[in-house]
Amino acid sequence: MKEIGFIGLGNMGSKMALHLANAGHRVYGYDINEHLVEELSVLGVLKEKSLTKLAKEKDIIITMLPNGNIVENVLKEILPHIKPKSLFLDCSTIDVDTAIHLNSILLSKDIKFLDAPVSGGTIGAENGTLTFMVGGSEENFNEISPLLNLMGSKFVYCGNSGSGQATKLCNNMLLAITMIGVSETFNMAKKLNLELNTLFEVISTATGSCWAINKYCPIPGVGPTSPADNNYLGGFSAKLMAKDLEIAMNAAKKSNSNVNFGEMAEKIFSKMANGENGSKDFSAIINEIE
Ligand code: NAD
Repeated sequence: MKEIGFIGLGNMGSKMALHLANAGHRVYGYDINEHLVEELSVLGVLKEKSLTKLAKEKDIIITMLPNGNIVENVLKEILPHIKPKSLFLDCSTIDVDTAIHLNSILLSKDIKFLDAPVSGGTIGAENGTLTFMVGGSEENFNEISPLLNLMGSKFVYCGNSGSGQATKLCNNMLLAITMIGVSETFNMAKKLNLELNTLFEVISTATGSCWAINKYCPIPGVGPTSPADNNYLGGFSAKLMAKDLEIAMNAAKKSNSNVNFGEMAEKIFSKMANGENGSKDFSAIINEIE
C-alpha cells in the first residue's frame, strides 16, 4: 500500500482520491477549499491542512488542478519537501510546454514525473472508468499503472514527456466541436417539432453517434444521466473547456496546423466562459447558441 498525497479535490479529484482510499492506500487530501477536505475526510481521505506537510514522505503525489500556472506554483512550494525517487503524477489538463518544464524541474531533483491528463468527465471519475493519456518514461508508466487502474479503465502510454497533454488537447478540441454539433442538431430538431427521445434513439445508434450524444447528451431527460439533468452543474465547466481550447489553439499555431472548426469552437466557448454561465457544464452551450 502506498502513501499518497492528493492535491485538488474538486469535481474530478475528489472522486479519484476516493477510489485510491477505498482500495486501501493511505491518501492525504489537500485543497485550498477546506470545505472539500472536510467532506472527504468523512469518507476516508485523510485531511491535510498544509501543502508542505502533505508533500513529505509520500511515495506518490497527484495533482488535479485547474491549470498549468497553479500546478507550477504548487510544485514550487512543495519541491523542497518531496521525497527523492518518489513519483509526481499530474492529472490536470495543462499546456504541453509547462508539462515538459515540470518534468525537467523534477528530474533535476531525482523525482519522477508523468503528465497524465484524463478523459471521461465527472461520470468517468465517479465510476472509475477514466482514460489516462500518459507522457514521460515508460518505466514510470509501468510503475504507476496499478494505481491508474483504480481510477480508470484505460491508460495509454503516449510517448515522451508532454505527449499525454498533447493527446488530451487533440481529444478536447474534437469534443468541443462535437458538442457544438450535437447542440445545433438538437436545437434544430426542436424547431422541426421532433420528439427528442426518439431522435436520441436513432442518432445514438446511427452514423451521427458520438460521446457527446451517447453518453453526455446536452438535453435534460434524454439519454443516460448527464450534467444536463442537474441543471448543468457539477460537470466539466465551460471555463475549463475554454482553457483547453486556448491551449489547443496555441499548439495549432506552433505546429502550423489547420484547425478552422477548432478556432470557431474556441470563440464560442470563450464567450460562454466569460459570461454568466461560465461555471456551468460545457454542455450548456446548447442554450448559449440556441
Ligand atoms: P475543479 O475546479 O472542480 O477542481 C479543482 C480544484 O483545485 C478545486 O477544488 C480548487 O479549490 C482546487 N485548487 C485550486 N487552486 C489550488 C491550489 N493552489 N492548491 C490546492 N487546491 C487548489 O476542476 P475539475 O473539474 O476537478 O478539473 C480539474 C482538472 O481536470 C482541470 O485541469 C480540468 O481541465 C481537468 N479535467 C476535468 C474534467 C471534468 O469533466 N471536470 C474532465 C477531464 C479533465
